[in-house]
Amino acid sequence: MPGKVVRGKLCPECGGAIHLGKERYTFRGVDFGEFEVYVCGRCGDSSFTPAGARAVDRVARAKGLFGVDNEVHAHHTVAHEKARA
Ligand SMILES: [Zn+2]
Repeated sequence: MPGKVVRGKLCPECGGAIHLGKERYTFRGVDFGEFEVYVCGRCGDSSFTPAGARAVDRVARAKGLFGVDNEVHAHHTVAHEKARA
């Protein structure tokens, strides 16, 4: 059920009106909870709002799961081990 219309923002896919909504997000099988998203009222395309994206990032970091930092670290470790081998 769509929330209020976001003024001045249109769907990049179809040009429909964008509504604020909530969407459940899971990453690698872990349920992060529900976050604020923009949802197109016409085609249903959704993307995180800036606040929603920050909230996802916070949960990911709290769970020690994300993304960029861990992967950078992993690559670094692999390179280091190859250098020693
Ligand atoms: Zn759309």
